[in-house]
Amino acid sequence: MELAELMTLRPEPGAGLLLTVTGRCPLHCAHCSTAATMAADEPDADRLRAFVSTFTPAEHPAVLMMTGGEPLLRPELVTDLAATARAAGTRTALLTGAFFVGRADHGAGHLASGAGPLPAPVPDSAPVPVPVPERIWRAATSVDHFSVSLDAFHEREVDRRSVFGLIRRVLDAGVATSFHLVGTGPDDPYLADVTADIRRTFGDRVPMLVNSLRRVGRAASWAAANTALPGAALPIAAAPDPERALPCSMAAWPVVAADGTVVACCNQRVVDRRPAPRHLTLGHIATDDWQSVAVGARTSPVLRMIRTVGPAHLLHRYGGAEQATAPPDYCAGCRALGDHPEALAAASAAASGPVGALLDRYAARGQVEAGAATLVRRHGCAPYADLVDLPGARR
Ligand code: SF4
Ligand code: SF4
Repeated sequence: MELAELMTLRPEPGAGLLLTVTGRCPLHCAHCSTAATMAADEPDADRLRAFVSTFTPAEHPAVLMMTGGEPLLRPELVTDLAATARAAGTRTALLTGAFFVGRADHGAGHLASGAGPLPAPVPDSAPVPVPVPERIWRAATSVDHFSVSLDAFHEREVDRRSVFGLIRRVLDAGVATSFHLVGTGPDDPYLADVTADIRRTFGDRVPMLVNSLRRVGRAASWAAANTALPGAALPIAAAPDPERALPCSMAAWPVVAADGTVVACCNQRVVDRRPAPRHLTLGHIATDDWQSVAVGARTSPVLRMIRTVGPAHLLHRYGGAEQATAPPDYCAGCRALGDHPEALAAASAAASGPVGALLDRYAARGQVEAGAATLVRRHGCAPYADLVDLPGARR
């Protein structure tokens, strides 16, 4: 399963499930959106297995995306979940920081501090062969899509040549691969360098999802980017006009957080903070199965309105006089929708019936038809959006 297909499904309600395999990670990236450490929470493994085993051939997500923290800290669990999901018809993807390849100049497994100067640029980034522990290799090749995070912060601890060597091995094993890249913005020279390096090394076989830094997690105290849209780094001056409908595509795939709570979107504050806003909570893996989570994600009138007109528009129209004039902070406004019963009531009146379902389907279909690059242009680092769909990637 290639990155473009995966991203094309992103606006489709219930087409995917993002699953936190663990909140833990041995790396120390200064920009980590989850502020992961080895002391973080992780969901009970048996509960995760039980939840994924509720996927059925008739009712399953098209994609299960396993994330963290670092999911390959639990390689046997990843392998099991991939097999269980596949039996129901779900394809799987994995996002890793590749902690196990270490730095070629320090030896595998070297885990340096996330602080300190960036490593000197490597003049020749030809992949170096990397040993991969057997249990991790089994997990890496059990999925349908294998993706590695790479950015200036990762490169302090895991070097580029080793990551390239890992991608080369996984690609040669017949698994579709991609890079998830992060930079400070469209003008970041790191992004120009790393994307060119990947094209030189892999041609157009390995697509890339390029994002701009967001001010969440460990980056909350220092990142300059201000988010007007989930995932987009726009200055507040460029905040969207609330008179216009501005749907949120991120409210389509449920997310299993590290404590087992299932929330409606991947906004890090929604995923991390408890209690999660009620209108963005879909259940818990201890008590709910996939079917009830999927039905909740597809039929909640508030989520339908968030997906079709967006939270800023909803608040502007129905949130009272103060909201009608307030500058929109897209996700903060969405998280606070519960404080505006009149907006929730308006969502319920407008979107709980068949018309709401139809509008939701229509909005999703439009975004799916627009394709992966259009979605990334809106939510990621726009000048690099076309790299999500490279022609040489395996279909
Ligand atoms: S590898 Fe990923 S999860 Fe781990 S510290 Fe870095 S950004 Fe966070
Ligand atoms: S908080 Fe609301 S607007 Fe932000 S990503 Fe989640 S659902 Fe979308």
